Amino acid sequence: MARVLFINGGSEGHINPTIGVVQELISRGEEVVYFCIEAFRERIEKTGATVRTFDDQKFIKAFISGGRDYLLERVNGLLLTSDIVIPSVLEQIKGEHFDYIIHDSMFGCGRLLAHILKLPAINSCTSFAQSKDSFDNMLEQFSTEVPPEIVKPINEKFQSLTAMVKEKYDVEIQSHYEVFCNPAPLTIVYTTREFQPDGEAFDQSYKFVGPSISSRLTQENFDFTAIQGSNPIYISLGTVFNQAMDFYKLCYEAFGNTDHTIVMSIGYRAQISDLGEIPKNFIVKNYVQQTDVLQYTKLFITHGGMNSTHEGLYYGVPLIVIPQSADQPIIAEQVANIGAGIQLQMQSLTANQLREAVDHVLSLSSFKNAVANIGESFRKSGGYHQAVDEIFEFYYQ
Ligand code: UDP
Repeated sequence: MARVLFINGGSEGHINPTIGVVQELISRGEEVVYFCIEAFRERIEKTGATVRTFDDQKFIKAFISGGRDYLLERVNGLLLTSDIVIPSVLEQIKGEHFDYIIHDSMFGCGRLLAHILKLPAINSCTSFAQSKDSFDNMLEQFSTEVPPEIVKPINEKFQSLTAMVKEKYDVEIQSHYEVFCNPAPLTIVYTTREFQPDGEAFDQSYKFVGPSISSRLTQENFDFTAIQGSNPIYISLGTVFNQAMDFYKLCYEAFGNTDHTIVMSIGYRAQISDLGEIPKNFIVKNYVQQTDVLQYTKLFITHGGMNSTHEGLYYGVPLIVIPQSADQPIIAEQVANIGAGIQLQMQSLTANQLREAVDHVLSLSSFKNAVANIGESFRKSGGYHQAVDEIFEFYYQ
């Protein structure tokens, strides 16, 4: 069978949906070599893939050095990672043959590697898909809203970086879109067309396979007997934009010593002890096995990361979405649009508002019904099985 080169970056949100895909590819006979950062080695090795890594510190430093204030700076940041990822990947696969490449839609310079290696390419899109038109509209808006003295140097940097890529790797970059979204002849999107904004606008090269949720085979740090039967509220801001001590304290204030059981995951960058005394009805962890916890949960207060949102809805849990950054405002809006939850703004949020929002969502059956519908459509979609069907159809037929 075929040898597959899988290119990803270093964040949970971009890696988790690919776990099931890799397991499935291997179970159907493919051999997978998976590039990412060291932190995810164990999780991916358990799928049976061969894991190779690039330097995570240099990778993150390069990405951040592009600037973080504007989308165009993040485009430059991604281009700056090319010098970390590409030489490392090329060196580590020297002399090896691959049949096709699957790459993340954002991290790992997948489109560039596909061109350098002249491999059939599949784009693995863990957020909503983005069309070139809508991306270009965003850029146009940026150019009109942001002063030229800011836009000009960012654009100049983009020009010099694309010239560098052309000279070093002999790949032409035509647009910011190519860098940010890594378009390919086949794009696997881990949501349904129904949940994707403007889903009908995407052509048949986009396959909406639905959420790809699989067991992550990680170590358990959670005593589920503590929540069985108590239907907790689960609170998490994900793994990236989660340094929010004031928010976690606000949750203590809003729900401490109420009848609700609360499970709160605060991420590895925050210290549980810095939050002060833990209310008796709270279980606070730096990380939990979220897909397991959600199966007991009555309400999920989330930042609206794509995976968290999918996972909550997949398990039939209504959401209160408090978007932090990136694509989360769009996801929050989509959740509210389908009636599966409500969104709140973090800025000036009070304990009272949070409590009232919880009462509101828990008291109305319309939220439960909407979640039941979308959850069913998610569970019925093919997920990673469908993803591999599409990949095989693309490559073998
Ligand atoms: N996650 C987890 N336990 C935690 C926090 C997060 O398992 O305590 C997982 C969650 O299940 C999801 C991913 O981390 O798959 C977070 O991805 P998402 O897209 O929601 O947000 P991001 O972390 O990228 O902002």
